[in-house]
Amino acid sequence: MSHWAKSASKTVLKLEQIARELRWLVVDTIYHAKDGHPGAALSAADIVAALYFHAMHIDPENPEWDERDRFILSKGHGCVIVYAALAMRGYFPLDVLYSFRSIDSILQGHPFMLKTPGIDMTSGSLGNGLGIAVGMEIARQYLGKSHFIYAIVGDGEMQEGAMWEAVRTAVKYKAAHLIVFVDQNGWQASGLCDDVGNMGDLQSKFDDYGWHCQRINGHDIKQILTSIQIACNEQSRPSVIIADTVKGRGISCFENNNKFHKGVPSLEEWETARHELMGDMR
Ligand SMILES: [Mg+2]
Repeated sequence: MSHWAKSASKTVLKLEQIARELRWLVVDTIYHAKDGHPGAALSAADIVAALYFHAMHIDPENPEWDERDRFILSKGHGCVIVYAALAMRGYFPLDVLYSFRSIDSILQGHPFMLKTPGIDMTSGSLGNGLGIAVGMEIARQYLGKSHFIYAIVGDGEMQEGAMWEAVRTAVKYKAAHLIVFVDQNGWQASGLCDDVGNMGDLQSKFDDYGWHCQRINGHDIKQILTSIQIACNEQSRPSVIIADTVKGRGISCFENNNKFHKGVPSLEEWETARHELMGDMR
């Protein structure tokens, strides 16, 4: 194995371990808060690990660094995964996670940029995040900066009309530094996306609008890293990475169980999560 291949596989192993720890923090945080959206957080864990611990240029010591890459969690209800990543990166102490959803906490139930260091955009009102990301990219071009704008959107959220205005506008402005992940876990709050409002093949729709499209396994760190690298090299088109994921990924009793769209694990489920993610940690 070449030196490069060895170091690449070390990176993948490291990010896989980080994703497991992030998942555990998600479950533990929601268990203690007695409220939250674990399913949507867990499906995005590998993408968030790859972004916050490898791909994005950010500085926890200086959250408002002007040259930083920007990130928007358009499916804002899944924010615990981002809070866990910010805590692990040192934006605030890990035990602040236990204040999640408390009055006056810096960690509200949906991302709030005026409260949380490292949150670039308030979100949670579904359908808005992509348009804001396009606006950030237009601003970047206007200012002559070189950072990237990353967004994660939900597959259920792609039913929102405003998302498609943003899709069209991104092409008009040649939003080459905009990289969007669709967390395609197949579910939304009220059921299967195909039952609630079947959008058909999202990839071909983005393709028709003129986006640079990739489709990956959203839990395969190597595929995630490669797709980001390819997207960063795109010179004139916005990039979408359709990531096939599993809602609740990582814990047997959470996977494809939509009671955990918004739901708190029981003590037994919390223990199952701890065992499956962290082994016999005591
Ligand atoms: Mg979904």
